[in-house]
Amino acid sequence: MNADIPVPARDTIAELVGYHSPQVDVAVRLNTNESPYEPPAAFLERWADSIRTAEWNRYPDRGADELRSRLGSLYGRRGAQIVCGNGSNEVLQAIFLAHGGPGRRALTFAPSYALHDLIGRTTGTEMVTCERASDFSFDRAAAQLAIERDAPHITFLTTPNNPTGMVESRETVEWLADIVPGLLVIDAAYAEFAQWDPIDLVDEGRPIVVTRTYSKVWSLAGLRLGYAVGPTWLVDQLSQVLLPYHLSTAVQLGGILALDFAEEMASRVAQLTAQRDRLFDALAADGRVSVWPSSSNFILFRPAADGHRVWERLLERGVLVRDCSSWDRLAGCLRVTVGTQQENDAFLAALDGVLDSLGFADGGSNPNR
Ligand SMILES: *Cc1c(COP(=O)(O)O)cnc(C)c1O
Repeated sequence: MNADIPVPARDTIAELVGYHSPQVDVAVRLNTNESPYEPPAAFLERWADSIRTAEWNRYPDRGADELRSRLGSLYGRRGAQIVCGNGSNEVLQAIFLAHGGPGRRALTFAPSYALHDLIGRTTGTEMVTCERASDFSFDRAAAQLAIERDAPHITFLTTPNNPTGMVESRETVEWLADIVPGLLVIDAAYAEFAQWDPIDLVDEGRPIVVTRTYSKVWSLAGLRLGYAVGPTWLVDQLSQVLLPYHLSTAVQLGGILALDFAEEMASRVAQLTAQRDRLFDALAADGRVSVWPSSSNFILFRPAADGHRVWERLLERGVLVRDCSSWDRLAGCLRVTVGTQQENDAFLAALDGVLDSLGFADGGSNPNR
């Protein structure tokens, strides 16, 4: 316990190690899976106009009804099946507040998104982990055992998974949905980059909820808007624990207007998917790194040289990626966000130079260099 702190927080909070992704000002930032593109200029203009004419002396629309019904129509759903939050992280927190808490357990499949664990622990939920297989694929036998052992009130599945980028099949998700005793939360922050969308599985009679975000695909990480699609009874439960007026008028207006630019967003997804495949091919052809297949906008890889040193040397060359090298089961690994073609080229050139400088010569097998 730190003697300099006059009033310590309750034990569960004091024990938490925060979530930190260093924000460093460098030329090529490929560390937090944001979109490399700015939002369309026409979107920004219309949003600014709507902000100028909004009734700022009034509270926002408490139910965010227009935003929810517009989001619903994206997926052929009713607004009553949508719940919004300040980033999908707030939606995840609401799930913990309604279904977790002291005396309750939540299960995650590791390695995965660290914030599930962190948000869960802040709410006093007991977090339990089931390890994925050695290639990070989903291990059904291990999952079955964990679910029988822990009877989790909430089970989290991230697909495509972060930080591995790997997607689960529909069969796996359905299999899991059939055996969980409580709620199944599918964190689908990157679903637009994958081959299928788990929102199809949402049904009034099933305890499945799918979370999504504007942070990645919609070029709006700064907006802080995320949402979940789930049965209406669950949406009601989550609305119960969210603070009144938590979603500002500016956020609601931005979220609604962004949906008018769905075509622009779809073309960005197509560009990023093509860039991802190009980046993957370049890394896969380099004998000095191992790489995991990705269905999202980032790629996990492990250089033959010491991962942390490679990360530092990349930074010296103005390229920031995510250093996962000290994370459980990810020894030596780095994660690179797919950027623009120029950014990806800069990353590949920097990585090549760094590995050369560390004494790992490229076998010359890589046609992209
Ligand atoms: C980036 C990310 C999110 C997004 O969080 P926001 O609060 O919506 O920005 C959620 N889940 C996963 C797995 C992510 O990688």
